[in-house]
Amino acid sequence: MHLLFLGPPGAGKGTQCQLLSGELNITHLSSGDLLRASVAQNTKSGQMAKTYMDKGLLVPDEVLIAMFKEKLSDTSLKTGYILDGFPRNLAQAQSFDIMLTDLNQKLDCVINLDMDSEPLMLRITGRRVCSNKACNKVYHIKFSPPKLDNICDSCGHELIIRADDKEDLVKVRLKTYFEQTQPLIDYYQKQKILVNIDASLATKDVFNRILNALKEVAKAH
Ligand code: ADP
Ligand code: AMP
Repeated sequence: MHLLFLGPPGAGKGTQCQLLSGELNITHLSSGDLLRASVAQNTKSGQMAKTYMDKGLLVPDEVLIAMFKEKLSDTSLKTGYILDGFPRNLAQAQSFDIMLTDLNQKLDCVINLDMDSEPLMLRITGRRVCSNKACNKVYHIKFSPPKLDNICDSCGHELIIRADDKEDLVKVRLKTYFEQTQPLIDYYQKQKILVNIDASLATKDVFNRILNALKEVAKAH
């Protein structure tokens, strides 16, 4: 299955994609995780990306388009993937459409995690992520705390606060989302592959709704 997740920062894309990746045994590709890994490795493109990420702005399209062109051509992804964070504006979506055609693939479903902006701040400021870049598991100090304080349940590494999860930056990131990413809802609605899911529910209820939506998609194929 070839899936794409949309939704504002904090809606739960990473959380749901990690669950779904385990359930369906398909690769989760998070643009944010990939960028943070190149920042951590201090590569040239990582250093450049960081200057945008530190401001809550989108990293230039050509960086993301080149990154995903390379990732998606990996033959191990032939059976499917779950995209989270890419594409993030119309130019990226149009380039992604060309990649799909070139790879002879088609998107089965776009899941839009729909949520009012008000509760997002609480979700984001309470977010903790595993510092192990091979794990990236997401926690919340209140809504999904780890068993041991600040330690990842899965791999035992320390949990950290993302550098861009500060309140002032979150406001810019939300503005960026509403201006540049939200128009993709309409873009994929027109392609008749968009499913809206209420992301304000508890994690397991959101997950069950996603699974049910995907069952319907599979039936229709
Ligand atoms: P995104 O990838 O969309 O930015 P995350 O999956 O990282 O969002 O979730 C943001 C924060 O909200 C994390 O701390 C996560 O544990 C928490 N979270 C995710 N889904 C829910 C939910 N349904 N209810 C409460 N908290 C949630
Ligand atoms: P995320 O982990 O999805 O919240 O993304 C964190 C940051 O990475 C964003 O605020 C952007 O600066 C950058 N980023 C992630 N995905 C993209 C993308 N598709 N295009 C441009 N910048 C991106």
